[in-house]
Amino acid sequence: METYLEEYYEKHQKSKAAWEKAKKVMPSGVGSNIRAFPPFPFFVKESKGSKVWDIDGNEYIDCQLAMGPIMVGHANPILLEAVKDQIEKGSMYAMPFKKQYDAIQELQKRFPVMEMVRFANSGAEATMHAIRVARGYTGKEKIIKLEGGYHGAHDYALFSIHPDKGKLGPSRMPSVVSQSEGIPQAVSETVIIVSFNDIETLKNIVRKYEGEIAAFILEPVMANSTVILPEDSYLENVRKITAEENIVLIFDEVITGCRVSYGGAAEYYKVDPDLICLYKAIGGGYSIASFGGKREVMKVLEGSVAHFGTHNANPVGITAMLTTLRDILTPDVTQTLIEKSENIFREMQNIIKDTGVSAKIVHVGAMGGLSFTKEEIKDYRTMLSMNYDMWHQFFITMLNKGVIMVGADPTETIFFSVQHSDEDYDKILTSFKETLQTLPKA
Ligand code: PMP
Repeated sequence: METYLEEYYEKHQKSKAAWEKAKKVMPSGVGSNIRAFPPFPFFVKESKGSKVWDIDGNEYIDCQLAMGPIMVGHANPILLEAVKDQIEKGSMYAMPFKKQYDAIQELQKRFPVMEMVRFANSGAEATMHAIRVARGYTGKEKIIKLEGGYHGAHDYALFSIHPDKGKLGPSRMPSVVSQSEGIPQAVSETVIIVSFNDIETLKNIVRKYEGEIAAFILEPVMANSTVILPEDSYLENVRKITAEENIVLIFDEVITGCRVSYGGAAEYYKVDPDLICLYKAIGGGYSIASFGGKREVMKVLEGSVAHFGTHNANPVGITAMLTTLRDILTPDVTQTLIEKSENIFREMQNIIKDTGVSAKIVHVGAMGGLSFTKEEIKDYRTMLSMNYDMWHQFFITMLNKGVIMVGADPTETIFFSVQHSDEDYDKILTSFKETLQTLPKA
């Protein structure tokens, strides 16, 4: 066995035993598919600030941050206080209360296009409802989504997320590849796939399906296929084409939301979609999501389009969101985190250069993607040039050194929180350098 794997086994014996037990009662021994990674996942005991501890007593600096939500850091004291106070006043009303309005005002400071807003509990719920709203508003059924784009676990958009190379189809008309058994074939007929940064194909598709397309849903910066940036004027062109064809443009800012800038990617790239979906950073780790946008579009929820959910806009989630947006991720704090993150990503890029490993960092705001490839990544297809084995050795070696550098998959994103300290950053960079020095140069 490779020495980095031996070390991982050695350091995670209690986790291994816990996982063996868990596998008997949970498929793959984990609560959600992507959490199981080879050789086995470690089990968390607790987390605080920038740190996570596992049941074997190992300490980690956490740059996975629950795949994004913990931008405020774990157990942020301001948030903890506000949420405790709310729980004492009731954790569930299923009736209106004032803080919902206050939370929307905070959202509108960042995302002015959100003239009307509704709440949900997860990114998947937010995007599912946004798609339904777009269909109801336009009276059309088809949606366009990106190859390599992810918008949650619902059937509407669970296609071509990470399709195998052999199934991609032509780049000018990518195949619609179901990401799961169990999704009715009829749903796939409502989905059209395009590559990121490919305006020509988008134009052709819009022409081909004239009058049939309700929405184009995309992450303005792709953050589920490592980080891929929009090329110059790509988003402006997308906006222009969708506006001309009465196609609702949905920005899924579940990850980019408060991270790319204070007002997310819409603010950073100065492109207004019709609808925005938010989750992750906005709730500080609590279950609160939102979707909203132009009044005219959102008004369909007052008529024929359904949005239900007993737990929607619950007081604990709303309090977490209000406190996170108003009191923690202020413009100054956000800007400081972005500047720190940019410095660290630049340092990482320098280390990559010095060590001669075939890898690159692509970053914007307080998020970055690391990919083990020499190629420029401009879409999902170019991302496939990544070396998985190298990523896995990197990921496990970093864990052995006490850094969760990225989520448990090479397509995941690196995040920093407002509770990461300079000491943490030093340790991250030292571990990064030492780890890269152990990797093959190619
Ligand atoms: N949209 C994007 C861009 C995401 O990254 C995710 C989750 N990674 C979702 C939607 C779904 O969010 P959730 O897991 O909360 O359903």
